[in-house]
Amino acid sequence: MRFITADSIFNGEDFLKGNPVLILVGEKIVDVQPESEINPLAIERFKGILTPGFVNAHCHLELSHLIGQVPRHTGLSGFAMELMRVRNGSKPDDVQQAMQAANDFMWSHGVVLCGDISNGPDSFAIKANSTLYYHTFIELIGLRPEAASPVFERGKELLRVLNEKGLAGSFAPHAPYTVSRELFTAIATENVKNNTTLSVHNQESPEETDFFRGSGKNIRALYASIGIDISWFEPAFANSFSYYFDTIKEARSLLVHNTFTGEAEIQAARHSEVWWCFCPRANLYIENAMPYLKHFTKYLHRTCLGTDSLASNNDLNVLNEANTLLQCFGELSIEHALQMLTSNGAEAFGLGHRFGRLQAGMAPGLNLIAEHNRNLTFVQKVI
Ligand SMILES: [Zn+2]
Repeated sequence: MRFITADSIFNGEDFLKGNPVLILVGEKIVDVQPESEINPLAIERFKGILTPGFVNAHCHLELSHLIGQVPRHTGLSGFAMELMRVRNGSKPDDVQQAMQAANDFMWSHGVVLCGDISNGPDSFAIKANSTLYYHTFIELIGLRPEAASPVFERGKELLRVLNEKGLAGSFAPHAPYTVSRELFTAIATENVKNNTTLSVHNQESPEETDFFRGSGKNIRALYASIGIDISWFEPAFANSFSYYFDTIKEARSLLVHNTFTGEAEIQAARHSEVWWCFCPRANLYIENAMPYLKHFTKYLHRTCLGTDSLASNNDLNVLNEANTLLQCFGELSIEHALQMLTSNGAEAFGLGHRFGRLQAGMAPGLNLIAEHNRNLTFVQKVI
């Protein structure tokens, strides 16, 4: 049995008052007691803030070997074109080594739960051997309505391979500009049936909005560059969100990026179980833009954080995503930032009973961090 305390303890929702001590057996919290109830000689004291293990809600382990290879500030279609180019020349051994290193880095920096996008099975073995809990999103792509059924069947096969390794997963439409409404509907229906989370890249760039208003030459150029004819696609929507959201509104959904999301979309989603996932450093990398967090002030209890991939970030330290938001939005409190990193992230996966809270009966990991002038630094993994 261990008795652990620190200068302060954040339990996933609030800073605890009254000098509490966490009582653990192995990795499991069995009780939280006031310090006065415990033999002072038995207590381990840490300098800093204790928190539950972190949730990185959006990652692409498969792209870990591409660190530093895609230029910054290209915009989304430029990024996608460069990404495809550099990805084609990747050696399988390099890919595996980089994924393993990325996994190890996340674990040693306090991440216990990761929502990871997979286009294929390359990362499954590493995930199966990992101490991290992964929820894998099988990402599906197909703008042609008639492709929905075969694409979905291939996705089902990949999910079966994932599940066979004992790993959890669900389906994820890549983004509105690459997925038909038919495929969105098929994915949402299946995820609702399985009571699992859907993930979609949402409003990541202004090009996306242009595309759904009928212009969008950059996204059309992206399709042309890979030899896919989309001249038949004649969208006439207010934006990408209004193209797809009604097809997924019954599903628990993780909407990722939201860099160009406005109040109208937040209002439209308020009766659905939507979680807004921000990846601010990737937004700065790709678009040199930041989501307008002020719009989300009333919905901070529905926000979480992700690093995106190493193709668009310097590292997979999800604490730095919180720091980027804390620097840009004075209204965001440390408590809110820590909620995004812990309990909110866990709830987004329907895993609030396992992760994100320092609560008796749970084994959510235990991190020690420090805070100075609204900047959070990772000190160590305690558990
Ligand atoms: Zn992504």
